[in-house]
Amino acid sequence: MTKQDLIDRLQARGQEQEKLWAEADRIRKETLGEAVHLRGIIEFSNYCVRNCVYCGLRRDNRRLLRYRMSVEEILQAARIGTAAGYKTIVLQSGEDPWYDVDKICTIVREIKQMGVAVTLSLGERPKEELAQFRQAGADRYLLKHETIDPDLYARLHPRGSYRSRIGALYTLKELGYQVGTGIMVGLPGQGLETIAADILFMKEFAPAMVGIGVFIPHPNTPLGATPPGSVDITLNAVALTRLVLPDVHLPATTALATIDPKGRERALRAGANVIMPNITPLHYRRKYEIYPGKSRGARANHLTVREEIEDMIRGLGRTVAQDHGHYYRRDANVQI
Ligand code: SAH
Ligand code: SF4
Repeated sequence: MTKQDLIDRLQARGQEQEKLWAEADRIRKETLGEAVHLRGIIEFSNYCVRNCVYCGLRRDNRRLLRYRMSVEEILQAARIGTAAGYKTIVLQSGEDPWYDVDKICTIVREIKQMGVAVTLSLGERPKEELAQFRQAGADRYLLKHETIDPDLYARLHPRGSYRSRIGALYTLKELGYQVGTGIMVGLPGQGLETIAADILFMKEFAPAMVGIGVFIPHPNTPLGATPPGSVDITLNAVALTRLVLPDVHLPATTALATIDPKGRERALRAGANVIMPNITPLHYRRKYEIYPGKSRGARANHLTVREEIEDMIRGLGRTVAQDHGHYYRRDANVQI
């Protein structure tokens, strides 16, 4: 697919859109089968040293009540998650250096003892630290590149560097992580051409996972008055990512579920094969407000939440994966 093909298909509507989603769904089925992987996510700190202009956790948002979960609280949340059946625990936070190498390595080691896979999503960290987390047993790392347009990246990230973001992705790969990257659809100043370039970049980088979110404005950020991203374009981007990366793990993102009550189901029909239910204790979860509405309808009982999601998956004629959901390169049959 050329860049122009991608631009054209990102705009697909009506029958064209149905065709695109059906094609993505067929490829998902052929390469990965019917299993949907459930990963339990713990959002353990909303402190952040960065100031990304779209995000409610940005350092300059003084209205947010900040929290940090203790090591024991994190482990307890992981125990509840594994007891509920999750085979992967995802640990996510703002960029918070309070969690030093020792703390993160202890958490990773202890959770690995529970017999599950561990995914980290802590933002950018020095290579030595990433290497130590990996040695402690971390399997995967999520770090969205957000946008491949260097100028747009610079405007959105006053304290970030485009080069170090992309560099970090290659470092993570080199360290043997299953690497997740991805984008947000609907950022101000992002054209369809940018999204097409993002998809081509991801094809070249060949990540193990791709998260495609949709921009939802947060009132306490500089982008508070910007309209949200388009659900249709986001779903089309999910489908096109499945076409160019047939075996990648592709979540139906929480952002899509937040902006569209049927977002998850629709993404699962457009090529997605992963859901990341939130298992953060409820009183903290409300404060992890990257964008508004994120914890709307949140429930305290993880077993009920999981049952509802499992019912939805079965309702689509799919199954709930029982394995760890590692990424295997289909051609070589090796785990990376
Ligand atoms: N601090 C880490 C992980 C937490 S942020 C990091 O930045 O990598 C997780 C993701 O939330 C980001 O990658 C970004 O894509 C998404 N996000 C932030 N603000 C958002 C918004 N307003 N709408 C939708 N997604 C948003
Ligand atoms: Fe911090 Fe991540 Fe939000 Fe940026 S996107 S402000 S790094 S939590």
